[in-house]
Amino acid sequence: MTQKTRKSTERKDNGNCCSFCGTPADEVQLMFNGGNGACICSSCIEHGYGLLVEHGIIGDGGRTKGKGKEATKFKPLTKADLMRPDRIKSFLDDYVIGQDAAKRYMSVAVYNHYKRLLAKGKTEDVELDKSNIVLVGPTGTGKTLMARTIARLLHVPFSIVDATALTQAGYVGEDVESILSRLLQAADYDVAAAERGIIFIDEIDKIARKGDNPSITRDVSGEGVQQALLKILEGTVVNVPPQGGRKHPDQKYIQVDTSNILFICGGAFDGIEKKIAMRLNTNAIGYGTSSKQRVNEQNIMSYIQPQDLRSFGLIPELIGRLPVLTYMEPLEREALRSILTEPKNSIIRQYETLMALDDIKLTFDAEVLDYIVDKAIEFKLGARGLRSICEAIMMDVMFDMPEGEVKEFRVTLDYAKSKIDKAA
Ligand code: ADP
Repeated sequence: MTQKTRKSTERKDNGNCCSFCGTPADEVQLMFNGGNGACICSSCIEHGYGLLVEHGIIGDGGRTKGKGKEATKFKPLTKADLMRPDRIKSFLDDYVIGQDAAKRYMSVAVYNHYKRLLAKGKTEDVELDKSNIVLVGPTGTGKTLMARTIARLLHVPFSIVDATALTQAGYVGEDVESILSRLLQAADYDVAAAERGIIFIDEIDKIARKGDNPSITRDVSGEGVQQALLKILEGTVVNVPPQGGRKHPDQKYIQVDTSNILFICGGAFDGIEKKIAMRLNTNAIGYGTSSKQRVNEQNIMSYIQPQDLRSFGLIPELIGRLPVLTYMEPLEREALRSILTEPKNSIIRQYETLMALDDIKLTFDAEVLDYIVDKAIEFKLGARGLRSICEAIMMDVMFDMPEGEVKEFRVTLDYAKSKIDKAA
């Protein structure tokens, strides 16, 4: 700015010039007029903005949208923010029921990932690899919830993408880069915050290699998408279209470095038990006869290994970039019952809180909770079903109560049954 500042003294009396750099109004993109005849041009504002970012007063990414204030929403991670694995696990325990094995793996992986991030440049010869995670388990068992809870704990931006929507560039669908657009949006375009965020890629099993059918609408074999994901998962600088969607030659891109973004992939991998059983050299039914360990239908998933993902159709390179592999257990009746009431933001607590905001005390009879679980099992909806069943029971109450005189409502079994029967 020195040269420009000199210009400013030279042009002091030259009418409508920038009070900082002296450039005349007709040579700048925009001129802002202040009080006392002072004005400032857009390039001086940009320069000032750069200084604020440089001094850590505001976040970097605000530049792209001019949203300085929000850019500070995600503070840079410090050592004090990083909990040890046992504390991460106990935080998860508050929100996620069961899934002990997955919680332990996640806690260690997340701890290592952010420790690596904080130690950048401090470990001399040893380069620490990323610890991206794969969670294998049936739908509705808490995979997304687990990833979301970790992001909440660390106050980092979080986004969810569906792998089935992704295609290799050039096919109809979403480019793989678009997964970063979502994270940028979640980070309020604070690039520095996005670069240490968490992306949950759901349904990763759906991009497993199936066959070699060429198609112009989608890369059906899935391998192209897997290839496209490799670099992003490992760490590279990606040109991201800020609004998502397809890349377009006229669009301005934001560069995002993915080396510190933690990727958590989830998938049901239906039928993978058979692959595990085959590898363990046992029969799909009555496993365990020839195996040294007692393998049975209940614990077969705990034997999952990276090579089973390969038999399922994930390419070895992709598996290599997802070094932490763990599994989610199917949720049994008892777990479903706990999910209703135990987590900090359990479904029942949410309804109680909603009604309390209208000064109405809401209670559920214990047998109603058992009934909701029975229905979720009957409809084969797992934990996902709990909410829709509760919603069907609570709909009329939530519609009528706020207007009424009643300040208390007890949900009885008869009431719950009548609402579900009506909906069925
Ligand atoms: P997934 O990603 O495995 O398909 P989600 O994490 O989206 O499943 O779970 C759907 C909903 O079910 C969650 O929002 C949560 O309310 C509930 N849920 C599922 N599993 C659990 C769990 N283990 N503990 C607590 N709530 C759960």
